[in-house]
Amino acid sequence: MCNNSGSSAMIDLMFTVRLERVRTLSESTKDFRFVCAANTSLDYKPGQFYRFVFADEHGEFERSYSLCNFDELYGQHMDLVISEVGNGRATNLLFNCQEGLEANVTGPFGRLTLPEEVPGRLVMVATSVGLAPYMPILKELETGGFPEVVLLLGVRDRSEFIYGDVLKDYAEQHDYFELRLCLSREKATAGYEHDGYVNTQIERLGVNPDSDHFLLCGNPEMIDDAWGYLKESGFKAKNVVREKYVFARESRSSAKALTAEQKQLIAAKLKKYGK
Ligand SMILES: Cc1cc2nc3c(=O)[nH]c(=O)nc-3n(C[C@H](O)[C@H](O)[C@H](O)COP(=O)(O)OP(=O)(O)OC[C@H]3O[C@@H](n4cnc5c(N)ncnc54)[C@H](O)[C@@H]3O)c2cc1C
Repeated sequence: MCNNSGSSAMIDLMFTVRLERVRTLSESTKDFRFVCAANTSLDYKPGQFYRFVFADEHGEFERSYSLCNFDELYGQHMDLVISEVGNGRATNLLFNCQEGLEANVTGPFGRLTLPEEVPGRLVMVATSVGLAPYMPILKELETGGFPEVVLLLGVRDRSEFIYGDVLKDYAEQHDYFELRLCLSREKATAGYEHDGYVNTQIERLGVNPDSDHFLLCGNPEMIDDAWGYLKESGFKAKNVVREKYVFARESRSSAKALTAEQKQLIAAKLKKYGK
Protein backbone atom coordinates (compact mmCIF):
# COMPACT_ATOMS: atom_id res chain seq x y z
CA MET A 1 0.00 0.00 0.00
CA CYS A 2 1.06 3.56 -0.57
CA ASN A 3 -0.20 6.00 2.07
CA ASN A 4 -1.77 8.92 0.33
CA SER A 5 -2.41 11.68 2.84
CA GLY A 6 -5.48 13.09 1.18
CA SER A 7 -7.09 9.88 -0.08
CA SER A 8 -9.39 7.07 1.02
CA ALA A 9 -8.41 3.41 1.53
CA MET A 10 -10.03 2.68 -1.83
CA ILE A 11 -7.52 4.79 -3.73
CA ASP A 12 -4.69 3.20 -1.73
CA LEU A 13 -5.41 -0.29 -3.12
CA MET A 14 -3.93 0.53 -6.49
CA PHE A 15 -1.49 3.29 -7.27
CA THR A 16 0.57 4.40 -10.22
CA VAL A 17 4.34 4.49 -10.26
CA ARG A 18 6.82 5.87 -12.77
CA LEU A 19 10.23 4.45 -13.63
CA GLU A 20 12.91 6.87 -12.48
CA ARG A 21 16.20 4.97 -12.81
CA VAL A 22 17.62 1.71 -14.20
CA ARG A 23 21.03 0.30 -13.28
CA THR A 24 22.80 -2.78 -14.59
CA LEU A 25 23.97 -5.04 -11.75
CA SER A 26 25.21 -8.03 -13.74
CA GLU A 27 24.97 -9.43 -17.27
CA SER A 28 21.41 -10.61 -16.63
CA THR A 29 20.21 -8.45 -13.73
CA LYS A 30 19.15 -4.84 -13.39
CA ASP A 31 17.68 -2.78 -10.63
CA PHE A 32 14.70 -0.55 -11.33
CA ARG A 33 13.70 2.41 -9.18
CA PHE A 34 10.05 3.43 -9.49
CA VAL A 35 8.65 6.53 -7.83
CA CYS A 36 5.13 6.98 -6.36
CA ALA A 37 3.22 10.27 -6.50
CA ALA A 38 4.68 13.13 -4.47
CA ASN A 39 2.15 13.03 -1.60
CA THR A 40 2.50 9.28 -0.96
CA SER A 41 4.80 7.10 1.08
CA LEU A 42 5.15 3.33 1.14
CA ASP A 43 3.43 1.26 3.81
CA TYR A 44 4.56 -2.37 3.86
CA LYS A 45 6.48 -4.87 5.92
CA PRO A 46 10.07 -5.48 4.79
CA GLY A 47 10.07 -8.73 2.79
CA GLN A 48 6.70 -8.18 1.09
CA PHE A 49 6.03 -7.98 -2.64
CA TYR A 50 3.79 -5.94 -4.95
CA ARG A 51 1.91 -6.81 -8.12
CA PHE A 52 2.80 -4.57 -11.07
CA VAL A 53 0.44 -4.15 -14.01
CA PHE A 54 2.43 -3.14 -17.09
CA ALA A 55 1.19 -2.47 -20.58
CA ASP A 56 2.90 -3.49 -23.82
CA GLU A 57 1.72 -3.70 -27.43
CA HIS A 58 -0.47 -6.73 -26.55
CA GLY A 59 -2.23 -5.03 -23.63
CA GLU A 60 -1.97 -5.15 -19.85
CA PHE A 61 -0.29 -7.93 -17.89
CA GLU A 62 0.73 -8.47 -14.28
CA ARG A 63 3.95 -9.62 -12.62
CA SER A 64 4.93 -9.81 -8.94
CA TYR A 65 8.13 -8.26 -7.59
CA SER A 66 9.60 -8.12 -4.10
CA LEU A 67 10.56 -4.74 -2.80
CA CYS A 68 14.33 -4.51 -2.53
CA ASN A 69 14.63 -1.10 -0.81
CA PHE A 70 17.67 -0.75 1.41
CA ASP A 71 18.74 2.90 1.76
CA GLU A 72 15.22 4.22 2.24
CA LEU A 73 12.44 1.85 3.35
CA TYR A 74 9.31 3.99 3.58
CA GLY A 75 9.70 6.93 1.22
CA GLN A 76 8.32 7.32 -2.29
CA HIS A 77 10.73 4.96 -4.03
CA MET A 78 10.17 1.33 -4.93
CA ASP A 79 13.40 -0.51 -5.75
CA LEU A 80 13.14 -3.78 -7.67
CA VAL A 81 15.88 -6.15 -8.73
CA ILE A 82 14.92 -8.20 -11.75
CA SER A 83 16.71 -10.96 -13.59
CA GLU A 84 16.30 -11.43 -17.31
CA VAL A 85 14.18 -14.36 -18.51
CA GLY A 86 14.63 -15.42 -22.16
CA ASN A 87 11.67 -14.15 -24.18
CA GLY A 88 9.85 -13.09 -21.03
CA ARG A 89 7.12 -10.51 -21.48
CA ALA A 90 8.11 -8.32 -18.53
CA THR A 91 11.79 -8.85 -19.39
CA ASN A 92 11.24 -7.64 -22.95
CA LEU A 93 9.45 -4.55 -21.70
CA LEU A 94 11.64 -3.64 -18.74
CA PHE A 95 15.04 -4.45 -20.20
CA ASN A 96 14.32 -2.26 -23.25
CA CYS A 97 12.30 0.58 -21.77
CA GLN A 98 12.96 4.24 -21.08
CA GLU A 99 12.68 6.11 -17.82
CA GLY A 100 9.13 7.40 -17.43
CA LEU A 101 7.48 3.98 -17.99
CA GLU A 102 4.34 3.77 -15.84
CA ALA A 103 2.82 0.80 -13.99
CA ASN A 104 -0.21 0.29 -11.80
CA VAL A 105 0.69 -1.37 -8.54
CA THR A 106 -1.29 -3.30 -5.91
CA GLY A 107 0.00 -4.54 -2.60
CA PRO A 108 1.74 -5.19 -0.39
CA PHE A 109 1.37 -8.98 -0.28
CA GLY A 110 3.22 -11.88 1.31
CA ARG A 111 4.26 -13.44 4.61
CA LEU A 112 8.02 -13.49 4.06
CA THR A 113 8.65 -11.02 6.87
CA LEU A 114 10.40 -11.02 10.22
CA PRO A 115 8.71 -13.27 12.80
CA GLU A 116 7.01 -11.54 15.73
CA GLU A 117 8.72 -13.87 18.19
CA VAL A 118 12.50 -13.43 18.00
CA PRO A 119 14.16 -16.81 17.27
CA GLY A 120 17.55 -17.97 18.56
CA ARG A 121 18.76 -17.85 14.96
CA LEU A 122 17.19 -16.43 11.80
CA VAL A 123 18.31 -18.13 8.59
CA MET A 124 17.46 -16.37 5.31
CA VAL A 125 18.00 -18.46 2.19
CA ALA A 126 17.89 -17.16 -1.39
CA THR A 127 18.90 -18.04 -4.91
CA SER A 128 19.80 -15.20 -7.29
CA VAL A 129 17.26 -12.32 -7.17
CA GLY A 130 15.47 -14.16 -4.35
CA LEU A 131 17.82 -11.93 -2.36
CA ALA A 132 15.52 -8.96 -3.04
CA PRO A 133 13.18 -9.19 -0.02
CA TYR A 134 16.10 -9.66 2.37
CA MET A 135 17.56 -6.21 1.60
CA PRO A 136 14.80 -4.26 3.44
CA ILE A 137 14.74 -7.00 6.09
CA LEU A 138 18.48 -6.47 6.71
CA LYS A 139 17.80 -2.76 7.17
CA GLU A 140 14.97 -3.51 9.61
CA LEU A 141 17.26 -5.87 11.55
CA GLU A 142 19.49 -2.88 12.33
CA THR A 143 16.86 -1.76 14.85
CA GLY A 144 18.10 -4.67 16.99
CA GLY A 145 16.74 -7.67 18.85
CA PHE A 146 17.83 -10.57 16.65
CA PRO A 147 20.88 -12.30 18.18
CA GLU A 148 22.00 -14.34 15.16
CA VAL A 149 21.18 -13.97 11.46
CA VAL A 150 22.62 -16.05 8.63
CA LEU A 151 22.13 -15.28 4.94
CA LEU A 152 22.71 -18.16 2.52
CA LEU A 153 22.81 -16.81 -1.03
CA GLY A 154 23.13 -19.20 -3.97
CA VAL A 155 24.62 -18.00 -7.26
CA ARG A 156 26.36 -19.71 -10.14
CA ASP A 157 29.46 -17.49 -10.06
CA ARG A 158 30.71 -14.22 -8.53
CA SER A 159 29.38 -12.13 -11.43
CA GLU A 160 25.88 -12.91 -10.11
CA PHE A 161 26.72 -11.75 -6.57
CA ILE A 162 24.50 -8.66 -6.70
CA TYR A 163 24.78 -6.08 -3.89
CA GLY A 164 28.04 -7.86 -2.97
CA ASP A 165 29.73 -4.75 -1.54
CA VAL A 166 26.65 -3.80 0.50
CA LEU A 167 26.40 -7.31 1.95
CA LYS A 168 30.10 -7.62 2.72
CA ASP A 169 30.07 -4.19 4.45
CA TYR A 170 26.96 -5.17 6.39
CA ALA A 171 28.66 -8.37 7.58
CA GLU A 172 31.69 -6.37 8.72
CA GLN A 173 29.57 -3.85 10.59
CA HIS A 174 27.10 -6.18 12.31
CA ASP A 175 28.32 -8.92 14.65
CA TYR A 176 25.00 -10.75 14.54
CA PHE A 177 25.18 -11.29 10.79
CA GLU A 178 26.91 -14.03 8.82
CA LEU A 179 27.00 -14.09 5.01
CA ARG A 180 27.53 -17.39 3.19
CA LEU A 181 27.78 -17.06 -0.57
CA CYS A 182 27.25 -20.47 -2.20
CA LEU A 183 28.94 -20.82 -5.59
CA SER A 184 27.72 -23.66 -7.78
CA ARG A 185 30.01 -23.06 -10.80
CA GLU A 186 33.11 -21.46 -9.33
CA LYS A 187 35.57 -22.46 -6.62
CA ALA A 188 35.18 -20.75 -3.25
CA THR A 189 38.22 -18.75 -2.10
CA ALA A 190 37.15 -15.93 0.27
CA GLY A 191 36.11 -16.71 3.86
CA TYR A 192 32.41 -16.06 3.20
CA GLU A 193 32.37 -18.22 0.04
CA HIS A 194 31.33 -21.87 -0.02
CA ASP A 195 31.28 -24.46 -2.78
CA GLY A 196 27.96 -25.85 -3.97
CA TYR A 197 24.30 -25.17 -3.33
CA VAL A 198 22.54 -23.40 -0.49
CA ASN A 199 20.95 -26.70 0.52
CA THR A 200 24.37 -28.18 1.31
CA GLN A 201 24.98 -25.22 3.63
CA ILE A 202 21.59 -25.68 5.32
CA GLU A 203 22.63 -29.23 6.17
CA ARG A 204 25.93 -27.93 7.56
CA LEU A 205 24.29 -25.34 9.83
CA GLY A 206 23.30 -27.95 12.43
CA VAL A 207 19.67 -26.85 12.35
CA ASN A 208 17.51 -26.79 15.47
CA PRO A 209 13.68 -26.76 15.13
CA ASP A 210 13.33 -25.33 18.66
CA SER A 211 15.39 -22.20 18.05
CA ASP A 212 15.82 -21.61 14.29
CA HIS A 213 13.44 -19.69 12.05
CA PHE A 214 13.86 -20.01 8.27
CA LEU A 215 12.87 -17.70 5.42
CA LEU A 216 13.23 -19.29 1.97
CA CYS A 217 12.95 -17.29 -1.26
CA GLY A 218 13.54 -17.80 -4.98
CA ASN A 219 13.85 -20.94 -7.06
CA PRO A 220 10.88 -23.27 -6.36
CA GLU A 221 13.04 -26.41 -6.58
CA MET A 222 15.53 -25.10 -4.02
CA ILE A 223 12.64 -24.24 -1.71
CA ASP A 224 11.04 -27.69 -2.02
CA ASP A 225 14.37 -29.40 -1.30
CA ALA A 226 15.10 -27.15 1.67
CA TRP A 227 11.60 -27.55 3.10
CA GLY A 228 11.85 -31.36 2.66
CA TYR A 229 15.07 -31.45 4.67
CA LEU A 230 13.80 -29.08 7.37
CA LYS A 231 10.55 -31.03 7.74
CA GLU A 232 12.54 -34.23 8.21
CA SER A 233 14.60 -32.39 10.81
CA GLY A 234 11.48 -31.62 12.87
CA PHE A 235 10.51 -28.12 11.66
CA LYS A 236 6.89 -27.03 11.47
CA ALA A 237 5.59 -24.83 8.62
CA LYS A 238 5.24 -21.79 10.90
CA ASN A 239 9.02 -21.68 11.33
CA VAL A 240 9.83 -22.11 7.65
CA VAL A 241 8.24 -19.31 5.63
CA ARG A 242 8.52 -19.93 1.88
CA GLU A 243 8.12 -17.64 -1.11
CA LYS A 244 8.55 -19.23 -4.52
CA TYR A 245 9.32 -17.03 -7.51
CA VAL A 246 6.92 -19.05 -9.66
CA PHE A 247 6.39 -17.99 -13.24
CA ALA A 248 3.49 -15.74 -14.13
CA ARG A 249 1.40 -18.49 -15.69
CA GLU A 250 1.53 -20.50 -12.48
CA SER A 251 0.89 -17.51 -10.24
CA ARG A 252 -2.04 -16.16 -12.26
CA SER A 253 -4.49 -17.93 -9.93
CA SER A 254 -3.14 -15.76 -7.12
CA ALA A 255 -5.18 -12.89 -8.57
CA LYS A 256 -8.19 -14.84 -7.38
CA ALA A 257 -6.93 -14.27 -3.84
CA LEU A 258 -8.32 -10.72 -4.06
CA THR A 259 -11.63 -10.49 -2.22
CA ALA A 260 -14.79 -9.43 -4.07
CA GLU A 261 -14.61 -6.15 -2.18
CA GLN A 262 -11.01 -5.52 -3.27
CA LYS A 263 -11.89 -6.28 -6.90
CA GLN A 264 -14.79 -3.84 -6.71
CA LEU A 265 -12.56 -1.13 -5.26
CA ILE A 266 -9.92 -1.65 -7.92
CA ALA A 267 -12.56 -1.54 -10.66
CA ALA A 268 -13.88 1.72 -9.20
CA LYS A 269 -10.41 3.21 -9.21
CA LEU A 270 -9.74 2.10 -12.79
CA LYS A 271 -13.02 3.69 -13.83
CA LYS A 272 -12.15 6.91 -12.04
CA TYR A 273 -8.87 7.16 -13.94
CA GLY A 274 -10.47 6.13 -17.22
CA LYS A 275 -8.32 2.97 -17.67
C1 LIG B 1 5.89 -13.40 -5.07
C2 LIG B 1 6.83 -13.23 -6.25
C3 LIG B 1 7.86 -12.31 -6.18
C4 LIG B 1 8.74 -12.16 -7.25
N1 LIG B 1 9.76 -11.27 -7.14
C5 LIG B 1 10.67 -11.20 -8.14
C6 LIG B 1 11.80 -10.31 -8.02
O1 LIG B 1 11.96 -9.59 -7.02
N2 LIG B 1 12.68 -10.28 -9.06
C7 LIG B 1 12.52 -11.05 -10.20
O2 LIG B 1 13.36 -10.98 -11.10
N3 LIG B 1 11.46 -11.88 -10.32
C8 LIG B 1 10.53 -11.95 -9.33
N4 LIG B 1 9.46 -12.78 -9.49
C9 LIG B 1 9.24 -13.42 -10.81
C10 LIG B 1 8.50 -12.40 -11.70
O3 LIG B 1 7.19 -12.19 -11.21
C11 LIG B 1 8.39 -12.85 -13.17
O4 LIG B 1 7.85 -14.15 -13.20
C12 LIG B 1 9.74 -12.83 -13.88
O5 LIG B 1 10.24 -11.50 -13.92
C13 LIG B 1 9.61 -13.36 -15.34
O6 LIG B 1 8.63 -12.58 -16.00
P1 LIG B 1 8.66 -12.38 -17.58
O7 LIG B 1 7.36 -11.75 -17.94
O8 LIG B 1 9.92 -11.75 -18.05
O9 LIG B 1 8.66 -13.89 -18.13
P2 LIG B 1 7.35 -14.69 -18.65
O10 LIG B 1 6.79 -14.06 -19.87
O11 LIG B 1 6.43 -14.87 -17.48
O12 LIG B 1 8.00 -16.09 -18.98
C14 LIG B 1 8.59 -16.36 -20.28
C15 LIG B 1 9.04 -17.81 -20.33
O13 LIG B 1 10.10 -18.04 -19.41
C16 LIG B 1 9.72 -19.00 -18.41
N5 LIG B 1 10.21 -18.42 -17.16
C17 LIG B 1 9.66 -17.40 -16.45
N6 LIG B 1 10.43 -17.09 -15.38
C18 LIG B 1 11.48 -17.95 -15.41
C19 LIG B 1 12.60 -18.14 -14.57
N7 LIG B 1 12.78 -17.40 -13.45
N8 LIG B 1 13.48 -19.11 -14.90
C20 LIG B 1 13.31 -19.85 -16.03
N9 LIG B 1 12.25 -19.73 -16.85
C21 LIG B 1 11.36 -18.79 -16.56
C22 LIG B 1 8.20 -19.09 -18.47
O14 LIG B 1 7.73 -20.37 -18.11
C23 LIG B 1 7.91 -18.79 -19.92
O15 LIG B 1 8.07 -19.94 -20.70
C24 LIG B 1 8.57 -12.95 -8.42
C25 LIG B 1 7.52 -13.87 -8.49
C26 LIG B 1 6.66 -14.01 -7.44
C27 LIG B 1 5.54 -15.02 -7.54
